[in-house]
Amino acid sequence: MEVVVSRLSKLKCPQCGRQGAWLELPTFPFCSDRCRKLDLYKWFSEEHVISSQLYGEKDDITQSIDELNSDKQ
Ligand SMILES: [Zn+2]
Repeated sequence: MEVVVSRLSKLKCPQCGRQGAWLELPTFPFCSDRCRKLDLYKWFSEEHVISSQLYGEKDDITQSIDELNSDKQ
């Protein structure tokens, strides 16, 4: 998805909804690397839902999100 925005525009992070001017950050369109990873992970976990249902396990996903949250680099 591509959105045309001016450099001065405030961007809304698709992950956390925070607004700011991170157009030039490498993490664009996300405000931070953490949000980028979280979104990526969300994307993965949606793909992963079918297989994880086979095991009936959700702790796995929760734990991984916690790991992402603690990853401050
Ligand atoms: Zn964010």
